[in-house]
Amino acid sequence: MKSFVYNGLPARVVFGAGALCKLPDELARLGAKRALVLSTPEQKDSANAVAKALGGHCVGTYDKAVMHVPIDIAEDARRVARELGADCCVTVGGGSTTGLGKAIALTSTLPILAVPTTYAGSEMTPIYGITEGGAKKTGRDVRVLPKAVIYDPNLTLSLPPALSAASGMNAIAHAVEAMYSHEGNPIVSLMAEEGIRALADALPKIKVVPSDLSARSDALYGAWLCGIVLGSAGMALHHKLCHVLGGSFNLPHAETHSIVLPHAVSYNYDAARDAMGRIENALGAENAARGIFDLEKKLGLPQRLAEIGMKEADLERAARIASEAPYPNPRKVEFGPVLELLRGAFAGLRP
Ligand code: NAD
Repeated sequence: MKSFVYNGLPARVVFGAGALCKLPDELARLGAKRALVLSTPEQKDSANAVAKALGGHCVGTYDKAVMHVPIDIAEDARRVARELGADCCVTVGGGSTTGLGKAIALTSTLPILAVPTTYAGSEMTPIYGITEGGAKKTGRDVRVLPKAVIYDPNLTLSLPPALSAASGMNAIAHAVEAMYSHEGNPIVSLMAEEGIRALADALPKIKVVPSDLSARSDALYGAWLCGIVLGSAGMALHHKLCHVLGGSFNLPHAETHSIVLPHAVSYNYDAARDAMGRIENALGAENAARGIFDLEKKLGLPQRLAEIGMKEADLERAARIASEAPYPNPRKVEFGPVLELLRGAFAGLRP
């Protein structure tokens, strides 16, 4: 066995259908009495329901969370938390809402109690991101890691099937890259493989019957595992490319991950054969890259960057940005091959 470092992060997880009813107990456990409930505008009703359930222990709601945490929203939310005298943030939503909670925690050290409603996994990581002047800056700080997470699959029943599929593939992307991460280790690989297996099994069932609570529960379990490995091991070329495409070309987060993933896996295939074998086991596929591509096709996901707003003329610029800064990846990151990868993703070619 190789030598390795395993860096476990503190996490308290309450999991199960109906687990949301434990929220007041979890708040009390944190010693908090003045929660601010955060959401996107679209999930305002969920935030109001949570606020009502907290009764006198909720001081207000803030429903302006949007993708990629713009600095003006972060500062506005921080001001509201300060003015209301909040002693805790309850985030009800996906990565955008959790991200806003993290922006507040970063400067105030208010604890976060996260209630995730997508499969993005941000609730399990100490990674934060704030967008300023058109660029998203990310960092790691354990202060932004939620103190407790309530996973209630009932809350994911309303996640539309297309978004569920894309979000689930976003989670699988975390596990894939954790498997060949320079910071990978046997524990991370165990969780990553199980996370992929759970999601690959559940997502097709959710596409057919979005109200299948058992499949929703399996998908959320898989997403939790994928979130842990995202927080525990550094990511590689795939995440870098998605960061560039989202940040510099404004492509939607989950769909971008889903489209790029099979091509990034194909790029790294020969340089990470052990990881590929585990991904193939988890997917029940003969080839990791084609297995992921075929799963996405079955889920009816968009498979061409052209479909989600990427312009062919921008591919070279994207490849240049992604290959300019050196970062760890199993195969050397070079402009020519990265451009070829992006061309494949742009056209939706089966790898
Ligand atoms: P999101 O949070 O932006 O949600 C997408 C849309 O779905 C929103 O309109 C939201 O209100 C809606 N929605 C969420 N859950 C719903 C539900 N159950 N029912 C109905 N509608 C629902 O999307 P996301 O993919 O979860 O998060 C993306 C953001 O998270 C990106 O900014 C990404 O960079 C960030 N992220 C950060 C980390 C990290 O570790 N810091 C990890 C993953 C993602």
